[in-house]
Amino acid sequence: MISKKLLKHLARKHGTPLLVVDHDALRRNLAEFRRRLPRVQPYYAVKANPDPAIVRTLYRAGASFDVASLPEFMTVHENIRHLPPKQRQDFIWDKIIYAHPIKSEETLRALDPFRPLVVYDNFAEIGKIRKNAPHAGLVLRVRVPNTGAMVELSSKFGAAPGEAVDLVAAAHRAGLTVEGLSFHVGSQTTNFDNFVQALHLVHGIFREAHLRGFSKMNLIDIGGGFPAPYDPAARPFRELARLLNREIARLFPEKNIEILSEPGRFIVATAATLVARVIGKAERDGKPCYYLDDGVYHTYSGILFDHMRYPVKAFRKGSVRPSAVFGPTCDALDTISLAEMLPDLPLNDLVYTENIGAYSIASSTHFNGFPPAKVVHVNE
Ligand SMILES: *Cc1c(COP(=O)(O)O)cnc(C)c1O
Repeated sequence: MISKKLLKHLARKHGTPLLVVDHDALRRNLAEFRRRLPRVQPYYAVKANPDPAIVRTLYRAGASFDVASLPEFMTVHENIRHLPPKQRQDFIWDKIIYAHPIKSEETLRALDPFRPLVVYDNFAEIGKIRKNAPHAGLVLRVRVPNTGAMVELSSKFGAAPGEAVDLVAAAHRAGLTVEGLSFHVGSQTTNFDNFVQALHLVHGIFREAHLRGFSKMNLIDIGGGFPAPYDPAARPFRELARLLNREIARLFPEKNIEILSEPGRFIVATAATLVARVIGKAERDGKPCYYLDDGVYHTYSGILFDHMRYPVKAFRKGSVRPSAVFGPTCDALDTISLAEMLPDLPLNDLVYTENIGAYSIASSTHFNGFPPAKVVHVNE
């Protein structure tokens, strides 16, 4: 944990808004993931936080990577290719999966020399891949239930289970190789049954594909969605891990079947803390209102894009009142909270928000002329 003293020190030294990334926490989260899911190789989902320093630390700690755009692919490639060769593997496949089912033809052409592992979920994509990336290996993304996930994905991606094997067959007819199947149960999934249902579904498709002669498939990618411990009362990851280990052992006992995963939030959410500053205050309708130098167009973007609620905490002690907390821009949408319990904060006082490493600075804008927060790395 980063101490409050260090947070304040860093904010004084670097200025605010400041996102402090703790690399010990990154390594701890990755280690916990691997310890509790020993058969599952984590491919860190770079879109959760694409900071190159995070990519390097996770690579050194043994992670592989899930990318979903050409710039993300290049970020990973550029940052791992200089690292010690003994940790490098022969095929880029072992380290990177391109997990976005839809790719432009330009992107496919740029990826082809790397012999990438790419995800698809529709017939049109097969033609694009054959034409532009004939050296790619394929993984078919299947649509699975997203009930109870904080961020739902199944309305946008995934082949219907009924057409899955036809999509495998069509890829083979096009001369391509399908390595296996993937799914995503939706981000911050607290309904663990989604994972069980998805594994059953994928197991059924796997069996049907084998019966129809596609016996080379040997990869199951269980996607992301592993919950970060934002709420200490929520069901913890270790319960999900127990369930997954049991179901994977039962449905896929064959040791030659590789199990991949794409955790984003779980790895990075708890690894960063934001420090912001009170740049204005007012009393409106009897309620204290604080204006911070960071808001929902910036590091708090998850309030809009990620359906998150981020508590704002004061370093200062004192009796608290329900207070409104706003971001710095001119837009009233830039509201962090209308009821945060805060003590009376003087101008220039610092506040902080924990567990804000995922889907935060990654979607920060420059709206209204305010740049994204500065980032510092500790324990790198
Ligand atoms: C966003 C995304 C992830 C990461 O999901 P988390 O919920 O952050 O673990 C993994 N795979 C795919 C395909 C994604 O789109």
